[in-house]
Amino acid sequence: MHDKTVAELSRDLAEGHVSSVQLTEHFLDRIQEHDGHLNCFITLDGDQALNRAREADERRKQGNATPWTGVPFAHKDIFCTEGVLTTCGSKMLANFSPPYNATVAQRFLDAGAICLGKTNMDEFAMGSSTESSYFGATTNPWGSNRVPGGSSGGSAASVAARLVPAATGTDTGGSIRQPAAMCGITGLKPTYGRVSRYGMIAFASSLDQGGTMARTAEDNAMMLNVMAGFDPRDSTSINREVPDYTASLNEPLAGLKIGLPREYFTEQLSPAMDRVVREAIREYEALGATVKDISLPHADLAIAAYYVIAPAEASANLSRFDGVRYGYRCENPEDLLDMYTRTRAEGFGREVKRRILVGTYALSAGYFDAYYLKAQKVRRLIQQDFIEAFKDVDVIMSPTTPSPAFVQGEKTDDPVTMYLEDIFTISTNLAGLPALSLPAGLVDNLPVGLQIIGDYFAEARLLNAAHQFQQATDWHRLAPK
Ligand code: GLN
Repeated sequence: MHDKTVAELSRDLAEGHVSSVQLTEHFLDRIQEHDGHLNCFITLDGDQALNRAREADERRKQGNATPWTGVPFAHKDIFCTEGVLTTCGSKMLANFSPPYNATVAQRFLDAGAICLGKTNMDEFAMGSSTESSYFGATTNPWGSNRVPGGSSGGSAASVAARLVPAATGTDTGGSIRQPAAMCGITGLKPTYGRVSRYGMIAFASSLDQGGTMARTAEDNAMMLNVMAGFDPRDSTSINREVPDYTASLNEPLAGLKIGLPREYFTEQLSPAMDRVVREAIREYEALGATVKDISLPHADLAIAAYYVIAPAEASANLSRFDGVRYGYRCENPEDLLDMYTRTRAEGFGREVKRRILVGTYALSAGYFDAYYLKAQKVRRLIQQDFIEAFKDVDVIMSPTTPSPAFVQGEKTDDPVTMYLEDIFTISTNLAGLPALSLPAGLVDNLPVGLQIIGDYFAEARLLNAAHQFQQATDWHRLAPK
């Protein structure tokens, strides 16, 4: 049962082969059995899930089910869920039970989907390995000492280990695509503004975007059908029609023009990674696509620009955690200032503090022009590169990561090496473009992802391209032992 996709489970429910209660019990049992060592979940919500499953079965009997009614899934612990602990992987929010739902959470509720719990993540989504969580690291089911990637590592690992068929994620610089690649699943970061950020705990507001994680492109399309759409409560949400993302999955790829950025295929890519990616691209040629070399001349500036802009925004966003309104408060403060400083010193982990320091510095009066303003100018140049490229090609393809899942602890003492993990994913966040990662092969028995970047609002095209590949290949079917 747990090997089935969302689409298959949805069909089974519709045809009465299984009930939502049975499905929910089955996946909760799997979590009980395997999560002890994987640590994908921060919070489980079994009782409420079973109640909802009963309601879902009832709703189906009454004939008003959606494709998601009764289907289990999980939320990254960055989406506020009413009355259910929402920690963002931090001690600062370890006791925070939101009084409202994020728009994304509300939409899944309205569709009748069954949230089983909240998945582990790097603290405040800062990281690429899910090792900075206050609740301990998540393990990649593909290798007992490997990271699952991050920051949405709990979501990726839980889907790969078949503990849930799908999970939400967020992507500020690669946090959906990089863990999807490392865990051998499919993940999509939509165009900035496509999915509401309301109730999604903010890291870097001009880059954060919620998205989808599941084993197949079809399941990602089903998720995006629920998540996408205008939200008046998010001022950067875009008021634009939402297509049915499952409707175009079967369109043929004949004539699709693929661009391969020269700057992404250099020595930083091992020969083994290069081979997997090029084989996947040959598969696309067999499906009728044509390939062309392109250039993104400012690609090498992306990491530097991101690590000024993201920490700057984070330093502002995280100033709200001061012990006054909600979350952690230090014991026995001497006075107000002592409460602020000790609350923040004790409540935040090392990486979060590093970002706040860097961001505050970059925004300070004497350095604002030299760092923040400069980084914003570089950001515009990076965006222009993509706008130019999309005059010639329909999609851009590259590896998602420079290497497969690395060993736990290997990069924790060296933040810059950790930052380089996102070398192929960060530019799309700076430009606001949609991008997807899908399983494309194995290196050393570990999954490797192919990244497909699209023009603004080209989610349907990305999902179509991924689905066609998955009709022709079996990489997405591989399961960890
Ligand atoms: N790894 C990047 C960072 O640490 C991106 C994280 C993300 O996308 N949330 O900031």
